[in-house]
Amino acid sequence: MDSSQTLDLVRVAVPVPLRRHFDYLSPLPLPEPGCRVEIPFGPQTLVGLVVDHPTESQVPRAKLKPLKRVLDTAPVLGPDILALMAWSASYYQHPLGEVLPHALPVLVRKGEPAAYRELEFWFATEAGMAIDLNELKRAAKQQQALALLRKGPQTPSALKQEEIQSAALTALEKKGLLEKRSLEPSHDGDWATHFDAGEGLRLNGEQALAVAAVTSQSDKFGAFLLDGITGSGKTEVYLSILEPLLKAGRQALVMVPEIGLTPQTINRFRRRFKVPVVAMNSAMNDRERLDAWLACRDGGAAILIGTRSAVFTPFKNLGIIIIDEEHDGSFKQQDGFRYHARDLAVMRAHRAGIPILLGSATPSLETLHNARTGKYHHLSLTRRAGNAQTARQVILDIKSVRLQAGLSPQLEQLMAEHLAAGNQVMLFLNRRGYAPALICHQCGWSAACERCDAWYTWHQAGRRLHCHHCDSVRPLPHHCPECGSNELIGSGVGTEQLEQLLTTVFPQYPVVRIDRDNTRRKGELETHLGDIKAGKYKILIGTQMLAKGHHFPDVTLVGLLDVDGALFSADFRAAEKLAQLYTQVAGRAGRASKPGLVVLQSHHPEHALLQDLTQNGYGHFADTALKERRLLGLPPFSYQGLFRAEANGRDEVQLFLTRLAETLRSARYPQVQVLGPISGFMERKAGKFRMQLLVQGPNRAPLAQLLDWAVKELDGWPETKKVRWSLDIDPTELN
Ligand code: ADP
Ligand code: ZN
Ligand code: ZN
Repeated sequence: MDSSQTLDLVRVAVPVPLRRHFDYLSPLPLPEPGCRVEIPFGPQTLVGLVVDHPTESQVPRAKLKPLKRVLDTAPVLGPDILALMAWSASYYQHPLGEVLPHALPVLVRKGEPAAYRELEFWFATEAGMAIDLNELKRAAKQQQALALLRKGPQTPSALKQEEIQSAALTALEKKGLLEKRSLEPSHDGDWATHFDAGEGLRLNGEQALAVAAVTSQSDKFGAFLLDGITGSGKTEVYLSILEPLLKAGRQALVMVPEIGLTPQTINRFRRRFKVPVVAMNSAMNDRERLDAWLACRDGGAAILIGTRSAVFTPFKNLGIIIIDEEHDGSFKQQDGFRYHARDLAVMRAHRAGIPILLGSATPSLETLHNARTGKYHHLSLTRRAGNAQTARQVILDIKSVRLQAGLSPQLEQLMAEHLAAGNQVMLFLNRRGYAPALICHQCGWSAACERCDAWYTWHQAGRRLHCHHCDSVRPLPHHCPECGSNELIGSGVGTEQLEQLLTTVFPQYPVVRIDRDNTRRKGELETHLGDIKAGKYKILIGTQMLAKGHHFPDVTLVGLLDVDGALFSADFRAAEKLAQLYTQVAGRAGRASKPGLVVLQSHHPEHALLQDLTQNGYGHFADTALKERRLLGLPPFSYQGLFRAEANGRDEVQLFLTRLAETLRSARYPQVQVLGPISGFMERKAGKFRMQLLVQGPNRAPLAQLLDWAVKELDGWPETKKVRWSLDIDPTELN
């Protein structure tokens, strides 16, 4: 039989950085789109996803290769997710083959079965149930095992914990008293039939209005901004909105920032509704992630709480998407497939015809703009729930003030007062390590990273120098390599140094530091946060990690030590980020019985941004900032695409981006500006020279068209062999 008769064409998305699909010959019946196939790709075997059944291929049939194996009998991804991924790939100008794996758990990407783990259980047989246990009295372990298993089946690992080894079990199996069977856990999603709404709080007027606004339109697409100050009860609103949806058997996707996905968050949802709530985050292992993913896809999970990548999770019956802290930077992926999970979530809700709720105390200017132009419904919570008060705010002028580890005497005095009153104090400094630079006091030498245009950060823990840009590490030198002096001193202040100072100034008050250095291990941040809430620590020092989403009701004084850098940054988003950080931090202070105080140290107390923020609040600041963005033609009043390029030599990068700039300009797209090439904030990083080219215009469609064309042109350029380039659509960081 001629083999080409029984084979036909499938088009496969392959996980390689190429902007095209590949055709293979497949046995009949053809695997449906969304099924995984193993394919030969050069010398490798890869797992790809069928995306189409083309009627013909550009490759002559004789040259087409047969695929090696079909891995699925049913698609692992439904048409809705496949279409969302295709849309994302084209919007972000990223190869679909590399985009699709984002929708799949790692084990599925690798070709493992997309199935629940089959759990093996030991059961007592009928004979085992009937036998007199005394008959086993000479085999104590067997007796113990059977006694236990007569109460119910157990997994081998659970039995091991009871110190019952497999020898005893197999002996019982031989006697016909036990048997081992696998049991598929049930995932049928019947949680809706015995749904229990739990006790909610009595909503205040604003909360009730917000709930009604979403609930009354929950059967169609609508984007809602829940603009509510910290502690105004946004989570309570989410829960109330979920109630009728869950009752109707609809599932919910709740997206939170990386740092916000704590057991507390999950428990708050679990406590309220007795439905399966699953989490998805990077701390879970591959097996746990696969199980959670399957539970969402097959309907067994009612609520998924996940970080950025959860936006691609398939659901059987998704009813709503909620994004908490929608302004948070961690929703944007900053390498590879550079998507913004918030923006994709809005698109997903739109395509699925369901509501999406974006919650924040400090909405991003993009979202606020959408709310003000009527694209999103604007719901406000202006009062703290319960009867907590908002904090008082003070700007402390530190010009010519002698600082100790960045701390002014005035702030130290305030700390002493608040601590003496039995309260907690939180200090915020956005620099980890001991000092941001190490310099020689004799000759001025400073320790610079050899691979980056950056200073090493001095870390006292481990006595090392660490480059925060390329992660290279060196031991702390004892002498200056230039002049031999041993007077090496720190320049600037990091959280380690502040911690050291405070343990000497306030020895009676335990200090805890929260930054990336001491929260790396799984569960470490959790433990710290739990201890803070339990009052174990009195002084909390942190980077912006500490600012996000955690309620510390006993904190009555918050100090921001050094924010001046953001006032004069080259990044047009720096002011927005500072305003968000400040407002979030300020929102953590105090409660009803203990009003809070927020102190901001600055060399520029008269700066308009600081004045506006402290006197008029975030909303007013946002208005001013939006006016400024409009005047300057910056997002959200324009759209951007940022080409980044890097290579071993500066000339290669420069030539490449210059040619690209000329190509883009020669296309003469009306109103599209091509800015650059310019060096980023750091020209050399990890040994590579880097430059960028910004393309910007007031309308999205022509910009997207131009970029699409340019990217296809680029693929044929010989320069791309030496230069690594990427395109970032709607970049949030211009470096
Ligand atoms: P947010 O998410 O806006 O910061 P939360 O939902 O965490 O606010 O609520 C802050 C606190 O106020 C929580 O302790 C919550 O239990 C309480 N709370 C929320 N809504 C109400 C309400 N309607 N009545 C009383 N307390 C409430
Ligand atoms: Zn020196
Ligand atoms: Zn470096």
